[in-house]
Amino acid sequence: MSDKEMLYEGKAKILYKGPKPNTIIQYFKDDATAFNNVKKGTIAGKGIINNKITELVMIRLAQLGIPTHFLERMSDREQLCHEVEIIPLEVIARNTVAGSMAKTFGIEEGLRLRRPIIEFSLKDDDLGDPLIPENHILALEICDQEELIEMMDMTAKINDFLRGIFAGIGLELIDFKLEFGRLSDGDEGHFLVLADEFSPDNCRLWDFETGEKMDKDRFRRDLGGEVEAYQEVARRLGISLEVEDEE
Ligand code: UDP
Repeated sequence: MSDKEMLYEGKAKILYKGPKPNTIIQYFKDDATAFNNVKKGTIAGKGIINNKITELVMIRLAQLGIPTHFLERMSDREQLCHEVEIIPLEVIARNTVAGSMAKTFGIEEGLRLRRPIIEFSLKDDDLGDPLIPENHILALEICDQEELIEMMDMTAKINDFLRGIFAGIGLELIDFKLEFGRLSDGDEGHFLVLADEFSPDNCRLWDFETGEKMDKDRFRRDLGGEVEAYQEVARRLGISLEVEDEE
């Protein structure tokens, strides 16, 4: 990796300058963090699994007409993407109550919502990613109304689609987090695309039959078996985890 120019190192990924203008490489690490960096660890092989799950999800979403930043997977841990300007929001969709929603409202985890919820958090580690209402987003000009509506529309479509995909392999999609970015159209304009990743690091998946958690909650809550859970999600999605080119 030494020949590539590093742009940014995040908690689970490193971003490098891509080989062509306006491209970046996402490198998926095995590092895992939780509770805003208070808990740190590694999940062996997680980067490879998340790279491949993200590839599959991004390709299927593109087939559905959802624009994404994804271009191609380059290796076990790397994928080539369009460079985008990330909108500093975490767009969260919920189908069933879990995590921070259960805590905030004192509701037991597992309550199925009458209809899905889409909510936003401000992407700011120092502030602990606080929940941010839509009127605050617009008043603070974090994005404009058109972008806000588009993010909600895309998230609703992504939720419907992915819920079906995961239900088909015996997994209930409880909630997930997305990030969107602005992609320049070459002239003055830009349009919104899905960016970042989709993996068990940023969604919750519960096995329909056993109720077992098959996502990062295994790490967050010290349940053990996180490697096996991530591998099982990949296996059910039909992803091969044979190592191709591990450095
Ligand atoms: N999530 C994420 N990154 C964050 C916060 C949440 O990927 O910084 C994901 C999390 O994995 C879950 C969903 O968003 O699938 C909802 O998370 P929640 O608000 O319940 O927060 P948490 O329980 O992680 O504090």
